[in-house]
Amino acid sequence: MQHETVVVIDFGGQYNQLIARRVRECGVYCEICSWRTGLDEIKAKNPKGVILTGGPNSVYDPASASYTPALFSAGIPVLGICYGSQLMMQLLGGRVAPAPGREYGKTEVTVDTRSLLFDGVSEKTICWMSHNDFIAQPAPGFAVSARTANCPVAAAEDPQRGLYAVQFHPEVLHTREGTKMLANFVYKVCGCKGDWKMDSFVESSIAALRQKIGGGRVLCALSGGVDSSVAAVLLAKAVGKQLTCVFVDHGLLRKNEGDEVEAVFGPAGPYDLNFVRVNAQQRFYDKLAGVEEPEHKRRIIGEEFIRVFEQEAKKIGRVDYLVQGTIYPDVVESGLGGESAVIKSHHNVGGLPDHVDFKEIVEPLRSLFKDEVRAAGRQLGLPEHLVSRQPFPGPGLAIRIIGAVTPEKIKMVQEADAIFREEMAKAGMGGGASQYFAALTNMRSVGVMGDERTYDYAVALRAVTTTDFMTAEAAPLSWELLSAITSRIVNEVPHVNRVLYDCTGKPPATIEFE
Ligand code: GLN
Repeated sequence: MQHETVVVIDFGGQYNQLIARRVRECGVYCEICSWRTGLDEIKAKNPKGVILTGGPNSVYDPASASYTPALFSAGIPVLGICYGSQLMMQLLGGRVAPAPGREYGKTEVTVDTRSLLFDGVSEKTICWMSHNDFIAQPAPGFAVSARTANCPVAAAEDPQRGLYAVQFHPEVLHTREGTKMLANFVYKVCGCKGDWKMDSFVESSIAALRQKIGGGRVLCALSGGVDSSVAAVLLAKAVGKQLTCVFVDHGLLRKNEGDEVEAVFGPAGPYDLNFVRVNAQQRFYDKLAGVEEPEHKRRIIGEEFIRVFEQEAKKIGRVDYLVQGTIYPDVVESGLGGESAVIKSHHNVGGLPDHVDFKEIVEPLRSLFKDEVRAAGRQLGLPEHLVSRQPFPGPGLAIRIIGAVTPEKIKMVQEADAIFREEMAKAGMGGGASQYFAALTNMRSVGVMGDERTYDYAVALRAVTTTDFMTAEAAPLSWELLSAITSRIVNEVPHVNRVLYDCTGKPPATIEFE
């Protein structure tokens, strides 16, 4: 099924992924393309509308990113945001210049509510601005539809041609009525109906996977994380027993996690697939013995994971397709979709196996954002504890143990972490913190328990609030909650006699504690 599509042309702005997310929240499928993508390629996607993003350059600089003006006469509605609005004006004969007063942050904008874009928006509304340049003169045929104290053209439009330009950023939540403006663009200007719904995504993916795979055999490395779990269930629904899921239990998972994964995907669970659990704990512990440096641990675990996986794949015999849980931000951040710098090349837990022969990789979640993956998981009936699982590093608890990893230390951090999570759940704090976990410091110190001297370990609790996981702040957990957690941990976890709370943000720390 071909969904209605809106294409975002990316000029390197900071918020470009947000634009696509907001459009999808309106129920319209949206893809990001670099400004280097030709008009023919964009037209081939049959878009209902195009959105031009912000960007760091100045449009009057000849070296800056541009686009063919033919876009504006292709009969496709276009919304230009910030840099995109300036580019639209300049390419169509308007004038852009350094602004006499720059605007940065929340700004009151007066809009013309007769504009389709501002239909139902308050006449005076707060918008997020971030610009040094401004539209000094709109292009011929354009009417000014919004202004601020410093900015005589905060928005301009030529509804006849379906062209709209806004100097502010409707995609960020600081723009109070931004989502309404984007919804107006996709529904009222582009005429979308809103056919991007998770139930239709799930149905059409299952049908497409079935068709693609035919009678082929499929192999999936299941980590128990959200992405690989949702990918596995999609495949299971599509091809059933042609799918084998290999779950490598490296012994570095959270308490009970291995059994939880088995309960869902194993023979006692609701899905009809082949499930192989490899209890490879000892192999990993042996390889990790005495290793202290976190990067070194990560490499060892990644390598070993691939080796174990390959061995299992050999036993299965012929493999036609290998499943990867790649999601849309991975695609964009690998520099394949938009314009953002290559932040990481995507790999599922340590790379691809080099000794498994397969025809092709299937990535059924390639077009989804994380929240959409979760919604698809719910749609597929995955249990909530799996769907809303916190981010968890591939190398698992090995990196939440400072210094050398031993089975005893793994047990300590598992128990402490389980208590922390239980108490947070009881306090309803999942809502307050975006991610939280316990780590085991390598520090031992003197304590006293039952009149006896102890010389034991300190557990560190880490809880952060963040929206994008790029920056984070320590979560302000209540003292009452922290002391309840502390007393349970020191009472219930042998060889722990102190509990510390990590008050550091990211930067300068990271969210993980390694
Ligand atoms: N660089 C342009 C300016 O300063 C556009 C900024 C943006 O798109 N956020 O006005």
